[in-house]
Amino acid sequence: MKKVEDPVADTERSRSEHNRRIEDPEHSRKVRVRIAPSPTGVPHIGNTRTVLFNWLFARKNKGKFVVRIEDTDRQRLQEGSLEKILEILDFLGLSWDEGPNVGGDFGPYIQSERKDLYQKYAKDLTQKGFAYEDEGAIRLKVEKGKSWSWNDLIHGEISFKSDVIEDFVILKSDGFPTYHLGVVVDDHLMEITDVLRGDEWISSTPKHLMLYEALGWQPPKFAHLPVIVGPDKSKLSKRHGAKSILDYKEEGYLPQALINFMVLLGWSPPPEVARRNIGEKEKELFTLEELTKIFSIDRVNTTSPVFNIEKLNWFNKKYLQMLSLPDLIGKIKDFSSRAIRTDDRQLSQIVNLVRDRMTTLTDFDKYASIFFEKGSEKPPGKEKVENAQKALQSITNWNEKAITQTLDKWIQENNLSAGDFKNTLRLSVFADNTPPIYQSLAVLSKEETLKRIEAALK
Ligand code: GLU
Repeated sequence: MKKVEDPVADTERSRSEHNRRIEDPEHSRKVRVRIAPSPTGVPHIGNTRTVLFNWLFARKNKGKFVVRIEDTDRQRLQEGSLEKILEILDFLGLSWDEGPNVGGDFGPYIQSERKDLYQKYAKDLTQKGFAYEDEGAIRLKVEKGKSWSWNDLIHGEISFKSDVIEDFVILKSDGFPTYHLGVVVDDHLMEITDVLRGDEWISSTPKHLMLYEALGWQPPKFAHLPVIVGPDKSKLSKRHGAKSILDYKEEGYLPQALINFMVLLGWSPPPEVARRNIGEKEKELFTLEELTKIFSIDRVNTTSPVFNIEKLNWFNKKYLQMLSLPDLIGKIKDFSSRAIRTDDRQLSQIVNLVRDRMTTLTDFDKYASIFFEKGSEKPPGKEKVENAQKALQSITNWNEKAITQTLDKWIQENNLSAGDFKNTLRLSVFADNTPPIYQSLAVLSKEETLKRIEAALK
C-alpha cells in the first residue's frame, strides 16, 4: 500500500511530479484514477458504471486504480455498505491497485482516519486568509466577480461565475471535513490525475478549483459522466430497475453481462470495432479484457444514456449460452438446491435442454421443474393416454434415439396425427410446456415416465 500519511513530503513530491508532467506533455502521463464511494448505502448500477469507467480508464492507460472511502458524512453512514461496495468490485472482477486490504483494513484509504490532515489544511487556509471560522466550522471565502472554468474531458469547456457560489464550509464543527475539502486534499495527496465522476458533481467542481488554487495545487483533469435516465427520460430510479449489482447477482445475472451492459451506457466502441463482421447485436459483445484495449474517454457521449433492462437480459442470455456446460452447471448449482441433488448425468441432460430458454440463472428452476414434478395441465381423454402408455411400454432402450424411432413408427403404424400424439405425451407425462418431447422423455427414466402416465390415468 502506498504511504500517504505524511502530507508534507507527499505534497512536495506530488508537486514536482505534477510540474514534470506539465513541462513534458509528451512524457507518458502516469495515470491515476480513483473511485471515492461514500458508505451511505449500496450504490446502484448507475454508480457502478462510473466505477467501471474509472477502472477501464486506468487499465487502458496502464495507470493505477485507487479505491478511497469518503465517510465524512457521519449522519448518513450505513452499517455494512462498505463491505457491499467491495463485494461489488470483487464480483465484477474490478481489482484495485491501492485501497483497502482484502482483510478489510482500510489504512489511510478511509477519510475518517485522516481527520488531522484536513484539519491541518483548513487551519493553513484560515491562517493565510482564504478561510475563516464561523460558528465552529470553517468556511472558504469565495471571491466575487471571478469565473471558474475547466476543460471537461467529456463536455468540453464548462465555466461558473463565482457570484452564484456562497462561502462554503470546508471543515464542519464536528472536526470532519466536508466532501469538498476531503476530496481535494485526497485527490491531490493521492496524486490523482483524472477525476471521472457523475454529472451530479459538476456544480461542485468550481468549489474544488477554488480550493486547489488556494492550496497552491495543480487540479486534476475532470470528466463528468452524463447521468443515466430511465426509458421515460426521468432520473433513473428503483422503478426502472436501478438496483445494486448485488441485487442483480442474486437474480442470476453474470458479471460479464453486467459489465457489457454498463459499458454501453454512455460509451460506444470505435467504428472499426463496431463494424466487426458479425450479427447486428453481437458486435456489441465485449469482454472485460477487450474493453481494456478499446475503451477511451473520447467515445463517451455527452447525452444521457437510457437504461434498458431488456438489453441487460439479452446480454445475460447470450453470456449464459456462451458458457461451457461444466461452468454453467457450476453456476446453476449456486442457485438451485434441486440441481445439487440431481445426479450429474441427468443434470447435464436437463441443462442442455433448458439452457437456451434461460435469461438468468434463477430461470433454471423454472424451466427444469417439469423433470422433477408434473405441471398442472389436464391430461387428454383416457383412450389417448392408454394408447401413449402402450407406446411407451414398448420402448426397450430408453434413450433419445430409440424413443424417437419407436414412437415415430408407432405413429405411422397406428395412423395417428403426430402433433396430437406428441401433445398427449406432453400432457400426460409433463402436464406443462416442454423442450422437444422425445428429448424431454429421454431425460426422465422409463420408470418415472410410466409412473406419471399411471397417475394421468387416475
Ligand atoms: N464521495 C462521492 C460519492 O459518494 C465522490 C464523488 C467524487 O467522485 O468526487 O460519490
